[in-house]
Amino acid sequence: MKTVKAFAAEKADQPLGPFDLQRRTPGPSDVEIEILYCGVCHSDIHTARNEWGGTIYPVVPGHEIVGKVTAIGSDVKNHKVGDTVGVGCMVDSCGTCGNCEEDLEQFCEKGMSGTYSSYLQDKKTVTYGGYSTSIVVTEKFVLKVSDKLPLEGVAPLLCAGITTYSPLRHWKVKKGDKVAVVGLGGLGHMAVKLASAMGAEVTMLSRSPEKAKDADKLGAHHFELTTDPENMKRLKGTYDLIIDTVSASHDYSAYLNLLRTDGVMVLLGVPPTPEQIHATSLIFGRKSLAGSLIGGIKETQEMLDFCAENGIVSDVEIIPMDKINEAYERTIAGDVHYRFVIDMASLEG
Ligand code: NAP
Ligand code: ZN
Repeated sequence: MKTVKAFAAEKADQPLGPFDLQRRTPGPSDVEIEILYCGVCHSDIHTARNEWGGTIYPVVPGHEIVGKVTAIGSDVKNHKVGDTVGVGCMVDSCGTCGNCEEDLEQFCEKGMSGTYSSYLQDKKTVTYGGYSTSIVVTEKFVLKVSDKLPLEGVAPLLCAGITTYSPLRHWKVKKGDKVAVVGLGGLGHMAVKLASAMGAEVTMLSRSPEKAKDADKLGAHHFELTTDPENMKRLKGTYDLIIDTVSASHDYSAYLNLLRTDGVMVLLGVPPTPEQIHATSLIFGRKSLAGSLIGGIKETQEMLDFCAENGIVSDVEIIPMDKINEAYERTIAGDVHYRFVIDMASLEG
């Protein structure tokens, strides 16, 4: 075991602060990684504050991890010391159920091991995430990262990137499709970049007028203010696919109304409270309301390779570890452009 510096929340209503945790000595299939950067996902905030229930305290959040391999176990084939690698939202799964066999580890029938506030496959050992200087992860859940892209901008691809890439691929977005993205935050800005790289005609649906210029720079073809009832009326029946990344309670029906016949709205955001929808929102126009959870390991590697080929990274604001509580408040206030990324060197020394 090795003692590692980290930042943790000890309770739902307390700010994060310094915390020492124990990382295991790498076993035969393990990769030890020095963490260079870790993105700040809204899920970190929901979890640290126990907004979904079930948080295991103390919690060390962080599942957008990029770093360098510092040690490998004797059986590790795909990574070597010095490689640049990434770790996302999962650190293990059973590997043998139907979903794992189909590269859908996120839906592992025995329960995947989340990177934090979760358990390893022994269902006893608590996992601690990327707000720390190093992590040990079984080889299969370690992704290869291109050195061509700035690493701080790659970190958010490990969650925000794959979470938006996966539904765009699953619903087969192609050139000319009309895709709308709701909420311009961490996930939203990646959805805009990826959908436009896939050739879609992308509309940003936002409640924040000051984000219009940025949406254009990110590659959105249109920007529509959702707080203007006239806009929402005019846009009725427009989109093939809506990607909803909103983190707080909102009216799904208002957005379902904007779908074309047979259109699909995919929920990615996980507001803490349930929403109500009326059946007619789906019945008229034969619409579908779907959800999507991150993506499997194979698809995550495919997404990283797609981003390297297309020069896609996240737009980030780098912060030192001790600014994390401020970053949480700014994220909740919508003041994030468009992902906070922690420079983990700030935790050393
Ligand atoms: P974020 O950076 O905070 O972005 C969320 C955006 O939603 C905001 O920028 C804002 O955009 C909009 N928004 C926030 N509050 C709103 C409100 N009250 N009404 C309307 N719009 C509001 O968060 P994120 O990191 O992208 O995460 C978004 C959600 O996805 C979170 O719930 C997170 O837990 C979840 N998530 C899910 C998965 C998955 O696998 N499904 C993976 C990662 C994260 P505008 O200002 O443009 O309106
Ligand atoms: Zn996340």
